[in-house]
Amino acid sequence: MIRSLRLKGFKSFADETEIRFTEGINCIVGPNGCGKSNIVDALKWIVGVTSAKGMRADNIRDLVFKGTESRRPSRSAEVSVVVSSRDLTVPETEVTRRIKSDGDSDFLINGKKVRLKDIQELFSKLGISNRDYAFFEQGQIDRVLRMKPSERKALIDEAAGITPFKERREETLRQ
Ligand code: ATP
Ligand code: MG
Repeated sequence: MIRSLRLKGFKSFADETEIRFTEGINCIVGPNGCGKSNIVDALKWIVGVTSAKGMRADNIRDLVFKGTESRRPSRSAEVSVVVSSRDLTVPETEVTRRIKSDGDSDFLINGKKVRLKDIQELFSKLGISNRDYAFFEQGQIDRVLRMKPSERKALIDEAAGITPFKERREETLRQ
């Protein structure tokens, strides 16, 4: 599960902001334009979504706080999550994605630079998906209704946390 999310210089979050999640359903409420969807964009970014469009931006650099009349733009954007398994067999681990000025990203696990693949392995072990069907955004609820049965099954498998086992089984069968 994702225990907390920290944003720094990401989109409208100029100031470092931490959001703690609890088990079960979490709700984020606030007026239009206050940054609710930007929080979802941050979650997408950290789980490895790479297309700017997927985060409602024209360019990856648009993920960096661009400043206001009274505030200078940020130099970089950073999103961190603390993740763990519910039973803590996978202990609390901090995963960070940091955008560099050239638009490339650095990935860190507990402050140490790693590859995107390492992060995706960790997320997969925890049942945290980077697939686009894991995110339902404004006006997209009907997407699940339009899915093929096999796609809907994949969604349920992922939510139930059995996808890593299925992938390992397929790997074993291939060998
Ligand atoms: P709604 O209730 O209408 O869905 P919301 O809370 O989901 O609103 P968001 O879409 O998360 O709102 O936030 C939009 C705001 O984020 C806009 O005001 C936009 O200018 C701001 N924003 C987006 N990218 C940046 C950026 N790079 N720098 C500064 N502000 C940004
Ligand atoms: Mg929104």
